[in-house]
Amino acid sequence: MFTHAASFMDLAPGLEEKIRVCNSTYTVRFGVRLRGQIHTFTGYRSVHSEHMEPVKGGIRYSLDVTQDEVEALAALMTYKCSLVEVPFGGSKGGLCIDPRAWEEHELEAITRRFTYELSRRNLISPSQNVPAPDMGTGEREMAWMADAYKRLHPDDINARGCVTGKPLSFGGIAGRVEATGRGVQYAIHEFFRHPDAMKAAGIEGGVAGKRIVVQGLGNVGYHAAKFLSTEDDARIIAVAERDGAVMNPNGLNIDELRLHIAETGGVRDFPGAEYTQHSLGALELECDILIPAAVEGVINAENADRIQTRLIVEAANGPVTAEADSILKKRGVVIIPDMYANAGGVTVSYFEWVKNLTHMRFGRMERREQEARHLTLVNELERLSADRGLGWTLSSNFKDRYLRGASELELVRSGLDDTMRGAFQSMAEIWHTNDRVDDLRTAAYIVSIDRISQSYRAMGL
Ligand code: GLU
Repeated sequence: MFTHAASFMDLAPGLEEKIRVCNSTYTVRFGVRLRGQIHTFTGYRSVHSEHMEPVKGGIRYSLDVTQDEVEALAALMTYKCSLVEVPFGGSKGGLCIDPRAWEEHELEAITRRFTYELSRRNLISPSQNVPAPDMGTGEREMAWMADAYKRLHPDDINARGCVTGKPLSFGGIAGRVEATGRGVQYAIHEFFRHPDAMKAAGIEGGVAGKRIVVQGLGNVGYHAAKFLSTEDDARIIAVAERDGAVMNPNGLNIDELRLHIAETGGVRDFPGAEYTQHSLGALELECDILIPAAVEGVINAENADRIQTRLIVEAANGPVTAEADSILKKRGVVIIPDMYANAGGVTVSYFEWVKNLTHMRFGRMERREQEARHLTLVNELERLSADRGLGWTLSSNFKDRYLRGASELELVRSGLDDTMRGAFQSMAEIWHTNDRVDDLRTAAYIVSIDRISQSYRAMGL
């Protein structure tokens, strides 16, 4: 996909290769004494491009983690950050582990030890490499990492910026947990503001009433499905999960489904829905928008011909293989590519990192607390004025403006929305102005590679 996009560009000799390759990958095997014996774990942290630092990307906990996978995902982070103009290079990490197989305190010991190994190589550091959550990790793991890092670097005043996706009470930012799903929603909103893109996908109207299939109800899929159904009136007609898929043509209640999964361990027996064990079969249902939100490669050469939608939104990283991509393109399917569609996570990570480094509180205080304080102040002013016969009165307009202000969550959401709008426009411009560029992914790569090559040129390379 990269090479295809680069073929439309006039890059300096050798620069294409320099941008494409992964700079370095660190493999570590470390032991942790657990359950009476030493268990050895294998972890990776790959740095794809350091044209901007720190480099950024999540850490994944899964038994499927391999060096190849981590390197590919690190590369994707480089292009993603460049496309949404987040000033980071690309990196990614992984630990070969089944997080469900370990107790919480065991996972904590493993995570702290992994952090120590990464820290020794500067692969976790606010100025050089800033991990974040990915599949199998979340706020809890980020808090352990931040704490472990702080203990190793007690004098680093910016220690909190060593990872993002931390809990709000531990240096996190409002809206980071929902950010990737929220970004998927904003990406879809922006798509519906582009008549040319809609025409290419043969889709009309707006999000309301659209039939959506979601694969994976993890952090990304859950938030995207929830916002699209409860705020935009789309119908989530099927959800595919680990143990199978559930379908209801009138739409599924996403919060109830999530609760059902938490209580029973799967989607089977969800009331009011049809169940099939063949989870990936749901990808082949006829729908208006297909949102793969789990792992790589679920849409591949084997099933690409049977996909019955005209619009795929890649909430996951790499859900469509290169072969499937060209099959789908020939069939007139529009794909909103991963490096754009799921960039909400890293965008809000950037806001969190900036917040950590500036040591500032973002936005106004919690509405109730602040309004109570301001109201007391305003009332006090009016009382003083009346007592002293000064005749001051505060207009209701003034009071209104004084009490208004954006909360951290509002700031984060509007910053994310702005980012998603801008990035789509930059992709769409290339797509529409260059006759040979016939898909959004190629356009996204071109925008992104062009910006990276400008950085290299500025560095004199
Ligand atoms: N793991 C997420 C991704 O793939 C977030 C990365 C980050 O916030 O650094 O984009």
